[in-house]
Amino acid sequence: MVVLIDTVSDKQVRPRHPEKAHRPDAQSPPKPDWIRVRAPNTRGYADTRKIVKENGLVTVCEEAGCPNIGECWDKKHATFMIMGDTCTRACAFCNVKTGMPDGLDPQEPEHVAEAVRKLGLAHVVITSVDRDDLADGGAEHFARTIRAIRAQCPTTTIEILTPDFLRKDGALEVVVAARPDVFNHNLETVPSGYLTVRPGARYFHSIRLLQRVKEIDPTIFTKSGIMVGLGEERHEVLQVMDDLRSADVDFLTIGQYLQPTRKHHAVMRYVTPDEFAGYEKVAYTKGFLMVSASPLTRSSHHAGEDFARLKAAREARTA
Ligand code: SF4
Repeated sequence: MVVLIDTVSDKQVRPRHPEKAHRPDAQSPPKPDWIRVRAPNTRGYADTRKIVKENGLVTVCEEAGCPNIGECWDKKHATFMIMGDTCTRACAFCNVKTGMPDGLDPQEPEHVAEAVRKLGLAHVVITSVDRDDLADGGAEHFARTIRAIRAQCPTTTIEILTPDFLRKDGALEVVVAARPDVFNHNLETVPSGYLTVRPGARYFHSIRLLQRVKEIDPTIFTKSGIMVGLGEERHEVLQVMDDLRSADVDFLTIGQYLQPTRKHHAVMRYVTPDEFAGYEKVAYTKGFLMVSASPLTRSSHHAGEDFARLKAAREARTA
């Protein structure tokens, strides 16, 4: 089911995607039966939601309309989205609203750290909107958030999922210096899809960003992901794997694209579970330490368990 210009909460009065309103409706095929999600109605879900709201935080789980929210929030796994709920880009797949964001909240790093402490997270994922309006793209705010979590929750491991910091010289170095445990930056799609799916970004810039993280600090795990079902060919997915391995990326995620509203890019195809299993197998042969490929794989899904496996895989390889 899709919603026409959705509203994530009942309180929202303005349409979320005015910039997409003029687009013709894009019709996706009906969902196959392997795309099944758990309804968000458990006690754990309600507890997580309360902590998120009490701390005035934004989560990508809600903003992106993630299909895994029932499962993740039941286990108190939420992915925090810092620097507001408004993005300066307008990618064709993304449900986060576009516009001119407000200024940064200087208290946000402490509030995020407090929520991580209250939720008792062993591993946290922090992401953000794109902030092309800021001189450093929000790099220092990312770094401050990492440091605040380290101070309040010294045993929590930290994974960040960053924007591309395109044309923000020196920004990446600021984030890497704060030493997250995992640096994730998603390619989102194959190079031929960039102009229609991710028009504000540049494929080779994103590859280079990931490569640079490893050059600056080889101890940080690097991670990237793509969505499939956007019209890509299999050989293009294999090319992405090779490009990521050239950049020494450790962890690859591949998941099915789902259309948030009819004004977003259509689902061109539902990739079968067998095809995902095939991608996973090929990716391991290409040398990734970890691969997650399935219809409901999302960057932050099971991130805590995956981090433990990632560490074990590195230790096994260097033993
Ligand atoms: S997969 Fe990630 S974005 Fe989706 S609900 Fe889980 S933590 Fe949130």
